[in-house]
Amino acid sequence: RSKQSGKNKICFYEARYQAEFHRRVGIRNEIGSILKDSGFRLFYQPIYDAKTSKIVGTEALVRWPEKDPSYGPDEFIPIAEESRMIDGLGKWVITTAIKQLAKWQETNSLLTMSINISPVQLEHDDLLSCLSDAITAAKVAPESVVLEITETAFFKHSDKISDALHALSQHGFKIALDDFGMGFSSIAHLMDYPIDIVKLDKSMQIPSATGGRRQQVLAGLALMLRQLNFEIVAEGIETAAQQDNCIGLELDKLQGFLLARPMPASDLQTLLAAADE
Ligand code: C2E
Ligand code: MG
Ligand code: MG
Ligand code: MG
Repeated sequence: RSKQSGKNKICFYEARYQAEFHRRVGIRNEIGSILKDSGFRLFYQPIYDAKTSKIVGTEALVRWPEKDPSYGPDEFIPIAEESRMIDGLGKWVITTAIKQLAKWQETNSLLTMSINISPVQLEHDDLLSCLSDAITAAKVAPESVVLEITETAFFKHSDKISDALHALSQHGFKIALDDFGMGFSSIAHLMDYPIDIVKLDKSMQIPSATGGRRQQVLAGLALMLRQLNFEIVAEGIETAAQQDNCIGLELDKLQGFLLARPMPASDLQTLLAAADE
């Protein structure tokens, strides 16, 4: 009898893996056809100066086309990475975001554009030329383009990634370490790579104003990063208490649902115009 139930269990797992496999293959095929139809969209989430509360930057976040079923980037980006389709998708994101930046800089000359870069893209040789071509065509300065590299990119130390980051940095692009605080060897990355900006991960935000040990860690970290001259951005600000806390800790920039959600370019255009008046 137990033998029988054991067998059922195996069948159950097999079925689950098979379903998961089909789901991923389905998403992978869809990514290919969406790319061909130029169907992906970019949303933009504003980044605010902590002192002036003005929008000083924006982060491009890729979105699945408006159709059913829909997937978030946390699900389809890893699939695009495995299948090398990240190169095509990444190129589209870079050129679209930089064109948009050029447009916004006509009225907000100091605005920056943050672009998430996958570690897979860093390992390929044409990333620098893709970025250079895009800024040349759009006539924007490399210093106004921030490349956000997620901390997990450095799990495996690779010379290729390190060389790529140094080359990008030497060309003037700004490098941000994204999701800082999630990994276990974050501090080492700050020494090994040419990083300008540290984005504190959402999980670093205290759930309430009560603080305690968490608050001490955040405060200590902020102090250290400031002393090392990193620009510090807090992401995932959802409550006024978190915002006040980050301002109190003298972090440089703030981003989160409390301030603004990711939105289509036209909506951010409206926000920027309103702030201008
Ligand atoms: P990320 O770069 O860390 O981006 C922040 C994510 O947190 C975004 O999710 C954003 O919508 C969300 N977020 C912003 N404010 C808040 C908040 O206050 N609370 C909460 N709970 N969430 C907040 P999204 O757009 O789903 O993107 C998820 C991840 O997918 C990104 O994390 C990034 O790693 C990746 N991603 C998105 N677009 C691209 C892209 O164009 N290229 C690459 N390689 N990765 C991308
Ligand atoms: Mg990011
Ligand atoms: Mg992040
Ligand atoms: Mg993330």
